[in-house]
Parts: sequence; C-alpha cells; structure tokens
Amino acid sequence: MILRQLFLEHVGQTSENPLMIEIERAEGIYMYSPDGKRYTDLISGVTVSNVGHGNKYVTDAVCRQVNNYMHLMVYGEVVESPQVRYAQKLASVLPDPLESVYFVNSGSEAVEGALKLAKRYTGRTELVAFKNAYHGSTHGALSIMGGEEFRNAFRPLIPGVRHINFNAAEELKYITSKTAAVIVEPVQGEGGVRPADPHYLKALRERCTETGALLIFDEIQTAFGRTGELFATIKYGVTPDILVLAKALGGGMPLGAFISSQVIMESLKTNPMLGHITTFGGHPVCCTAGLAAFEYLMDSEITAEADRKGKMFEDILTGHPLIQEIRRTGLLLAVEIGDEGLNQRIIRDFVKEGLVPDTFLFCESAFRIAPPLIITDEQIKETCGTIIASMNKFI
Ligand code: PLP
Repeated sequence: MILRQLFLEHVGQTSENPLMIEIERAEGIYMYSPDGKRYTDLISGVTVSNVGHGNKYVTDAVCRQVNNYMHLMVYGEVVESPQVRYAQKLASVLPDPLESVYFVNSGSEAVEGALKLAKRYTGRTELVAFKNAYHGSTHGALSIMGGEEFRNAFRPLIPGVRHINFNAAEELKYITSKTAAVIVEPVQGEGGVRPADPHYLKALRERCTETGALLIFDEIQTAFGRTGELFATIKYGVTPDILVLAKALGGGMPLGAFISSQVIMESLKTNPMLGHITTFGGHPVCCTAGLAAFEYLMDSEITAEADRKGKMFEDILTGHPLIQEIRRTGLLLAVEIGDEGLNQRIIRDFVKEGLVPDTFLFCESAFRIAPPLIITDEQIKETCGTIIASMNKFI
C-alpha cells in the first residue's frame, strides 16, 4: 500500500486512472503481485514481451553481458559485438536493401531518426502521415501523430506535415515531389488494429517511388512475429526505404532502430557529420537481450503459430453479445465494444479478475488482446474464459 502511495506522489503521472497493480515478479505470460495474486498479461507490456517474461534464454544472455561490459562509449565509435551481431542478424532476414541499422533507445527516437534521415537524404522538408497514427511522444513524433487532441497543447510543432486518411487511395495524390517521407504503420496499432489493405500499401509504395518520397514503415507494434510473420513488411511483400523498430526489438530492454540501405544511411555522415547522435543507443545489454529474444523467436514455432492462436481468441470470443466486432492481424486483436464507458468498466473488471488489459489511444471503445506469443492453447482457453465471465457481468 505504501509503495502505491509513493508511486502516485513521486513517479510522474500522466493519467487519472493508472492500473495501480503492483508487480513483484513476472514469468511467461503471468505477473505476480506481492500478495501472490496472479495476473495474465493480455498485452505484452504493449507488444514488447513477445517471447514471454523472464525468458531464460534472454535473461542468461543478459547476465553474461552485464558481467562482460555495459556502457563503453557513445554510439558508433567502438565495435561492440552485441550491436554488430544483432544488426547483422536483422539485415540477414530483412528484405534488401534494409541492411544498415542505426540503434537508438526507444520507438520515438527511432521515428525522430527516420524523419531526419529522410529529410537529409531527399533534401526535402514535407512529411505525410496518417490520421489515427501513433509514432511516439517526442516533438517530431508528436507532429506526425494522427490525433489533434494530443498535438494541440504542444504547438508549435514541426511544420510541413499533412495527415491523410488511411487506406484511402484517392488521397495518395497529396504525396508529391516536395514530400521527404511518408510514414505509415502497416497495421495501425493505436488506431485500434486497422490493417492496411494490401493493394493500398502497394499503391503507396508506387506513389513514393514515383515522386521520390521515402517510404517509412513504423513496425514498432507489428514486428517480431506479432502478425504471424517476422515483420509486416514480409507479410505484405512491400519494402519501405526506412524501417522503424522498437518495443519487442529489445527483448524486454529499451531499444529502438531505424534501418535503411547503406546509401541512404550514409547521408548522416556528412554536412553535418554526426547527423544523429546518441549516448546509449545500441546499449550492449539491450542489444544482447534483443538478439537473444530474436534468436529464440527464430528457433521456435512461435511466429508460425501466432495467426492460429489469434484466430483461437477470435473464434472463442466471437458471438458474445457485448462484442460488436473483432479486428485482428496475427495475435494482435481489437475487441470492439462500441461504447467507451462500458469498455472502461469492462477493463477495470478485467484487472479485478486478474488480467492486465489496455485500450487504444484512438479507439477507446475497444480493448486490446496481444499476449506474449508463447501463450499456449490451454492458456488461451482459460484467458478467454476469464474475459467472457467478466463481460457477462455487464450484460
Ligand atoms: N510507433 C508505434 C506504432 C507505437 O506503438 C509506439 C509506442 O506505443 C511508438 C511508435 C513509440 O515508441 P516508444 O514508446 O518506445 O517511444
């Protein structure tokens, strides 16, 4: 109780209603409070813990690296094997020409780096982003965020940003020879799990190529098996000029990256030199954790199973009288209740019933299902049982 009070007094708060669950330890898909109550992680800390909490392959690697070395030097000067090996591994599975990885500390910073890189490479200044898109909370990322109510209080933001509607082919005309970059989530996460139409994504790629604008994919929520493929870029067969990663990239540690061809990345070298600087970006312990999680993912069937597991959730929950719609890609689902107030009450009850839930920034009438990808069929059935029992209280 005291810790919870101190949390409210001394840890900066940004919401009136934090979940307020105290967690002592976490393992697999479960988190445990000091009184022994078990919570099922329904959202993977928002699509981070894809290989589960306390994954021994990851934690052992982290312990070894901590004993070898932690921070040595600012980014890009010293050859650190965790960083090099992880960059090489990512390049080996990503489509060409995504071969050069700039590691940073978070998703927002990766987005900042990607925007700067696109402006520097093209020499252009205008940016195109999407309504209901979320790319982070720093000034640049906030400028391209697709929700006016979040942006407005922090103006002035970066100029030259146009927001267009997602999946609206007729608006591709707003991408022009003045556009430095178009940034898109292949599946809008905070918009409430809205997958891009495959034809639309291809047309977007073509329009960018035609106009010389760089296409940036923000795969911060969708990468590392979540959609049933390692990356949504592979699932859609559409390759961006710059790929932005974070969240599950670090295997539970803070890590982000923007990835491009070497030719594009080289433009951060000159005029000015050191076009992007970070002290901790690509931290050896974070890269070790990320690489271990990635190897674990690659060596297992988790990614191949994600779609079937997501469909299991969908099949069990479909037909419940309070559910209006389920939107899904792989093991990322939005369960649409259609009423913000009711959704909030359901989410509060989930916490009482031992689930760690979440809604979406731009879709508060739905709740999110994105558990660690290692969840078993038995655990899915049990979790759905809890979800249904909880929702039944509101019929
Ligand atoms: N982009 C997307 C699609 C996200 O979902 C998020 C975070 O939720 C971000 C960017 C920002 O990442 P971070 O919170 O690590 O800065």
